[in-house]
Amino acid sequence: MNAQIISIGTELAIGQTVDTNSAWLAQRLAEIGIHCTRHTTIADELAPIVAAIKQASIEADLLLISGGLGPTIDDLTRQALADAMGKPLVFHQASMEQIEAYFRARNRSMHPDNRVQAMIPQGAAPIENTNGTAPGMSALLNKAHIFVMPGVPREMQMMFVGDVLPKLPRGDGGVILQHSIRTFGMPEAEAGQKIAGLMARGRNPTVGTSAADLIITIRINAHASTREEAQRLIDADAVQIRQLLGRAVFGEGDMTISDAVGRLLIDQQLTISTAESCTGGLIAKRLTDVSGSSAYFTQAFVTYANESKMRLLEIPDALFRSHGAVSAEVAHAMAANGRRISGTDYSLSATGIAGPTGGTADKPVGLVYIGIAGPRGVEVKEFRFGELLGRDEIRDRAAKAALNLLRLSIKPS
Ligand code: AMP
Ligand code: MG
Repeated sequence: MNAQIISIGTELAIGQTVDTNSAWLAQRLAEIGIHCTRHTTIADELAPIVAAIKQASIEADLLLISGGLGPTIDDLTRQALADAMGKPLVFHQASMEQIEAYFRARNRSMHPDNRVQAMIPQGAAPIENTNGTAPGMSALLNKAHIFVMPGVPREMQMMFVGDVLPKLPRGDGGVILQHSIRTFGMPEAEAGQKIAGLMARGRNPTVGTSAADLIITIRINAHASTREEAQRLIDADAVQIRQLLGRAVFGEGDMTISDAVGRLLIDQQLTISTAESCTGGLIAKRLTDVSGSSAYFTQAFVTYANESKMRLLEIPDALFRSHGAVSAEVAHAMAANGRRISGTDYSLSATGIAGPTGGTADKPVGLVYIGIAGPRGVEVKEFRFGELLGRDEIRDRAAKAALNLLRLSIKPS
């Protein structure tokens, strides 16, 4: 059993939008043991889409297609499937009614152009779309089972899980399950060295690391004949990895440092505020990215000017004159006073040089002081993220470093 995936859209082919649908679909197929051998990305042009569908239908047992089902003239997937099948497009009344019902439920009137979305190739079957207007389609062509889904990732995923996945045979190649363990603060080489035994080639599960924006992710891929067996293999490796990497591990799956911090704060009923300069409120933004953060986050002081630091955070002018605004001393005072004025258990502060201008020889771009004030006192750490990073990257890293400092300051219960 092998599969191919075709994603359709000019924005994908020219690189304006990254094709995430193919990767997502291939991962879901791997989980049920279906091996994907080819991803094809095609612009909104009829002839190449028809050719690709025909070719894939000869090569693959399963063909998943996403995109090009919209109501405008650049959406050609319906016509392309009909042409590949050598069949005309026919009007499907039940689909039309579903599309009309979709608009009615949202109190919107339907544009006449949406009628084309109720057309499907003769011999194909429509797949209802409960999360958008465009119905999907399923058809048989040559040796392939074909499923066509909308391009919008959320709609595609809902249709795949709800309507396509239950119809797919389970592959005979066994199951591949994937799990990620996420770490912060330990260099990738060091993490790799600690788990080297698990990373040996030819082993099952395979274990690998990847680094992005200071977060090192350890990926475990287990191959087994059943889901349960693959899960057992993953669990065994995960236990070892957590043990070997210790407190560098902040979470599993797609968990963020903000999620990890949020759990700790909720578990221990602690509160947090921020006193931010170079991060401009980004630490507060990250804290409040988490649903339910009102349980622990109270407020942020975004004090960019020295005058604001003096007025809102009561930083004495003398500190700026003797140490400068970007200094361990100011970060210390911002965290301590932020905590006192907010009345929170913890307060995080950040002052630094986000660049690209404003760096000097002894205070280069990328220098950031992060302070944390808590029940056990105040701590300041100096970070040098490097002058080559962009402003966004420096601020992102500063916010992550601050959240991580908070995570490490709270003793796990
Ligand atoms: P469509 O209705 O198929 O033209 O797709 C609607 C929108 O969904 C596009 O403008 C893209 O922003 C997004 N989209 C379509 N296909 C993909 C894909 N393969 N990966 C990620 N986003 C996509
Ligand atoms: Mg499109």
